[in-house]
Amino acid sequence: MRVRFWGVRGSTPTPQRENMNYGGNTSCIEIRTDTNQILVFDGGTGIRLLGNKLLEEFRGEPIRAHIFFSHFHLDHIQGVPFFRPLYCPQNHFTFYFAGRREANLVMDALAGMMANPYFPMDMSNLPCSREYVDLVEGTFTVADTRILVLPLSHPQGCFGYRITQNGKVISYCTDVEHGVHWSDRNVRTLAKDADVFIVDAQYTPEELASHRGWGHSSWQQAIETGIEAGCKRIVLFHHDPYHEDADIDRMLEDARTLHPDVIAAQEGLDVSL
Ligand SMILES: [Zn+2]
Ligand SMILES: [Zn+2]
Repeated sequence: MRVRFWGVRGSTPTPQRENMNYGGNTSCIEIRTDTNQILVFDGGTGIRLLGNKLLEEFRGEPIRAHIFFSHFHLDHIQGVPFFRPLYCPQNHFTFYFAGRREANLVMDALAGMMANPYFPMDMSNLPCSREYVDLVEGTFTVADTRILVLPLSHPQGCFGYRITQNGKVISYCTDVEHGVHWSDRNVRTLAKDADVFIVDAQYTPEELASHRGWGHSSWQQAIETGIEAGCKRIVLFHHDPYHEDADIDRMLEDARTLHPDVIAAQEGLDVSL
């Protein structure tokens, strides 16, 4: 498998000079399986860049992709209307969210975001074909991967994903606040022995103290969880909108004193397993 980061920023896009190394687009990662199936996790503003890349790669041939959402906070969906492959009739997308089965949560959230008066184009008029799948927590198979989905502690809820193929594991746990027993246990389950653990590391430990209830973690909690779960590589993700490149560099330096293989998610970064 290969994972590519298209959006790594938390909460709101931050396109400014001081952030250009790690990037200012909000959450979106792409996983290519060993059979070149496309799995996308979250549709923050980074998904616009992924769309451009896919159009270039497929050159008019049909694109099929599976698009999963951790939750529907704006920073995880706001790029979807600008994902240009949606506007091509030959393409097919399946959207997934784990809430309540047959509750139409994913369809309603995406259609609601594009409804009058928020967006000029109604989702029902998009020319591509689409499916909406409401999952419940547990394990399922998509595109020759096994995917475990479990809820995480976050305002209005959030879900983490563990993607397994050919003995390799990618864990995606963003937007999670530690300190709630069932959620901490789910994070450890999702992260267990992962080759790549992509994890919410929005705050410094000092900042965390004044951000209880915002639904995020410190880099230190991210690393401690990764160590406890035996993760091989830890990727600090969902960078705070008020952190510039230099701040993230400092957090990364501190994190590397605790674990030998830590990186900070960066737009355009590719990690192969
Ligand atoms: Zn977020
Ligand atoms: Zn959130």
